[in-house]
Amino acid sequence: MAMEQIIANNESGARVDALTGLLNRGALDMSALALVARWQRDGQPLSCLVIDIDHFKQVNDTFGHHAGDAVLREVAQALDNSRRASDVAGRYGGEEFCILCPHTDEHQATALANRILRKVRAIPLPGQAECFASVSIGVAQLRGATGSKELLWRTLFADADRALYQAKEQGRDRYVVVSATLDETPAPSLVRVTSQIMTPAG
Ligand code: GH3
Ligand code: MG
Ligand code: MG
Repeated sequence: MAMEQIIANNESGARVDALTGLLNRGALDMSALALVARWQRDGQPLSCLVIDIDHFKQVNDTFGHHAGDAVLREVAQALDNSRRASDVAGRYGGEEFCILCPHTDEHQATALANRILRKVRAIPLPGQAECFASVSIGVAQLRGATGSKELLWRTLFADADRALYQAKEQGRDRYVVVSATLDETPAPSLVRVTSQIMTPAG
């Protein structure tokens, strides 16, 4: 094999997660910074999904690590098949994944979340008839205006991760959009305006 090919293979190996074939965490971070830089330039929305397999420890404990690895690979495949070509998918660590969606707002990103939920629900768990995998998903859109690329990326991921936590709390096998978790109680002045609008004329 030519030396250039060996170097190229090693370089791509350094970017790819060996088990799932998705980007590894380092490569995902690099891609995220590049996408945040693009967002700063063109102002197009950038969304992030953080995805975690539900009750995965039970899969390992019941069927063994090898079977767990097979489920991990199938879930990764489902993510890869659900994303658009311009989306970037990576394994963030353990049984947690992340997909970055350029030119996509939070609402549009929920379509991807739904596709993923449906595909993962079709992945059978080993050894049990009628028992399928599921994931929980947090969805967030980059909203910060200032700050370094690193800070913006950290904030975007943390927002999606917070929404993921809510999805787990609400029972798993679902997605939560971060804006839906914010306190949306209207300010008192807005309540007044609303009640004026609601008052029937005459
Ligand atoms: P939750 O629904 O709250 O996410 O529960 P969980 O069981 O999925 O979460 P927990 O964090 O308790 O367990 C994650 C498990 O993922 C434990 C760890 O052994 C397993 N895991 C992490 N990486 C790998 C891997 O590469 N292969 C296998 N087979 N298991 C892994
Ligand atoms: Mg999990
Ligand atoms: Mg986890």
